[in-house]
Amino acid sequence: MGYPFDGHYNLLSIPVLVSVRQAIAIVECFLEPNDRTTRFASIRALLESTYGPRILRPSFEPLTELISTILSQNTSDTNTARAFRSLRETFPTWDAIRRAETVDVIAAIRSGGLANRKAPRIQGVLDEIHERIGSEDLGLLGELPLDEAKQWLTSLHGVGSKTAACVLLFALGRPAMPVDTHVHRVALRLGLVPARTSPEATATYLERMLGDDAQAVYAFHMETINHGRSLCRALRPACGGCPLRSDCDYFQDHEHAPVTSDSGHPQTPRAE
Ligand code: SF4
Repeated sequence: MGYPFDGHYNLLSIPVLVSVRQAIAIVECFLEPNDRTTRFASIRALLESTYGPRILRPSFEPLTELISTILSQNTSDTNTARAFRSLRETFPTWDAIRRAETVDVIAAIRSGGLANRKAPRIQGVLDEIHERIGSEDLGLLGELPLDEAKQWLTSLHGVGSKTAACVLLFALGRPAMPVDTHVHRVALRLGLVPARTSPEATATYLERMLGDDAQAVYAFHMETINHGRSLCRALRPACGGCPLRSDCDYFQDHEHAPVTSDSGHPQTPRAE
């Protein structure tokens, strides 16, 4: 896909238009790729100056990142860490988790929430990996072309595109963008992607904008999460105190009128 910042466009690869706003956004990209490139550069600079430089330091090995990310679904970082620690203290190896009674895995990760769903998912993923490569070493994902590495991971039952991107970026230092609810909301409001773009398509757009630079992908990911948590919240975004407001479609659209949150409830930009 060529939308919207690299100046190379392929009409056949543009997602189905779902609104007039989306159509306008795409047409604007054909007309003003340089302006949008400039605006994106401005947004990146403002995010970095507001939230500080973020340095990518791959830490966990890929399987640890994968299981930890599955545990993190629909729970807090604190609960994830607690459940992961309990899992590794209960079972000495990944193979022991794979072979364990599911009730015992459920008990080990109960503190992380949704244990009844996550335990069989973790065991299923470990089974599939064992069947495919007979090993726990996912280092091959560092060698495959990025799209193939994503496909390898998302073809595991219960592994979505965000989880796959977490493994590729955080563990392997590859330029894959995890799009969580904050990254998605901020990208939509800023107008970096057309309205109603899915999280998966948002990841593709952002990766194209940021190129093959894993450090840039990581920094943008972390900074937009910070921004989504602190100012660009789902409800009552603090637009009045936001350094990005002059580059923000959402703020420009609603500057003189009540604005609407992700949930559709009327909101008013706040000066904080
Ligand atoms: S101006 Fe408001 S909507 Fe736009 S990025 Fe800032 S907080 Fe979010």
